[in-house]
Amino acid sequence: MKRSPSSLSRLDPASIPLEDQGEIGFPPVGAGKRFQFLILVEIVNFAILRRHVGRQRCDVLMADVAERALLAIDGAQVRVLGPAQVEIVAFGADRDVLAAMLDVLTALFDSPVDIDGEQYALDVALGATAASMPHHDDVRMIEEAEQALADARIERRPVERDLPVETARIDRIALARDLHVAIGRSDELFLQYQPKVHVRRQQIASVEALIRWRHPTRGLVLPGDFIPIAEDSRDIVALTLWTLRQVITDQKTMAARGYDVPVFINIAGVLLSDTRFVAEACTLVQHGGAKIGFEITETSVIRDPESAIANLKIFAEIGIDVAIDDYGAGLSSLAYLKQLPACELKIDKLFVTQLTSSNRDPLIVRSTIDLAHALEMEVVAEGVETQAALALLTVMGCDMVQGFLISRPIGLDALLQFFDEGRHLAATSEARVPFARFSGVQRG
Ligand code: C2E
Ligand code: MG
Ligand code: MG
Repeated sequence: MKRSPSSLSRLDPASIPLEDQGEIGFPPVGAGKRFQFLILVEIVNFAILRRHVGRQRCDVLMADVAERALLAIDGAQVRVLGPAQVEIVAFGADRDVLAAMLDVLTALFDSPVDIDGEQYALDVALGATAASMPHHDDVRMIEEAEQALADARIERRPVERDLPVETARIDRIALARDLHVAIGRSDELFLQYQPKVHVRRQQIASVEALIRWRHPTRGLVLPGDFIPIAEDSRDIVALTLWTLRQVITDQKTMAARGYDVPVFINIAGVLLSDTRFVAEACTLVQHGGAKIGFEITETSVIRDPESAIANLKIFAEIGIDVAIDDYGAGLSSLAYLKQLPACELKIDKLFVTQLTSSNRDPLIVRSTIDLAHALEMEVVAEGVETQAALALLTVMGCDMVQGFLISRPIGLDALLQFFDEGRHLAATSEARVPFARFSGVQRG
């Protein structure tokens, strides 16, 4: 059936062949199928349209949206998912094909639709995920696409997310070699930022930088899979200095926009006693003109306490905030804890995600908060995913929270938008109800 994409005629969703409505499967990998894409198309102004044109015509509208997508993307499988959503499964020979598909879809929905002679503009959100083939994590792919769609609604632009590669398939030697190249090129590595929100002040107190690697053939590789490799190969020095340079630039961009909050980077344990790293990092920070913090783990201090504590003092003296990361997950020593020049203690997400379902974790979290306060540190709970956890942490006197409930790690542009639209975020997401009075960030 060939129709002008902007005209609306009746198309029963059921008339799309069943095989084209198919479940996300695992077809054989051919040259053109190295990547699988799942794209969710949502009509954001669906409720308004339905009020204008009625339910039946809206069903027709959704079928039209599905058909436009089917015509526009070669070999796509399309189906209407719910009242306002359409799902597209497609394949490509490389990862960049997805961006091209999103461009096509954006252009496609730019023109208004004709419903019984009246023109209606569609407000369309596009969220997509890419996975290198073969992959076997169907559920994760859907979760990532849904998250991308949620981000797209807020950011008002198409959002792509990658399905991380499975650790088991990673060949460490090949990955170490590729990582070395990636650090030199530095167009494959990128940073995402996750805010830490001060509970009482209702302000974004700081931001954590988290590194990601978009591998040219494997797709997205997460830090848990390549930081240990970088530590073994000593590439961790170059990688962390790259991160620091990037963070200095980005922090200054944030400050110029009025959001002068510190950005924390994660410092691997091996670097705390690495004289060359310490000297270079101090030079960068001293000349960088940006507010920087370092997250370190206690375990890394225990490895070589004397030089680690001495170097941390150097960092603190030049104005770098020090946070103790993943507290409770590794080795811990009260003797060292009280010697660390840290201003922040981050309770590991292991205890926080189980907070409301475990009997012991609330006791551990409560006593850790009291301990940190006794040592004059502020406490951050990481991995805050639910309202219930947030409520409990607030009652317990936790100072700051970080986690998916507030925001997933996001790119700099999205972070700036998060800052700009704090109130909008609060109003549009149920999960952020406690931040309804959210007053943006602490302006420095
Ligand atoms: P981390 O520093 O403890 O970072 C927090 C991790 O928890 C991040 O994973 C983040 O995406 C995840 N997370 C945040 N909120 C939630 C939540 O509500 N629920 C759950 N389940 N997870 C949440 P990511 O980005 O995969 O980083 C993992 C670890 O990799 C980091 O743990 C850090 O130790 C290390 N890492 C990340 N970036 C760097 C870096 O630039 N350098 C070094 N040396 N290590 C890094
Ligand atoms: Mg961290
Ligand atoms: Mg942590």
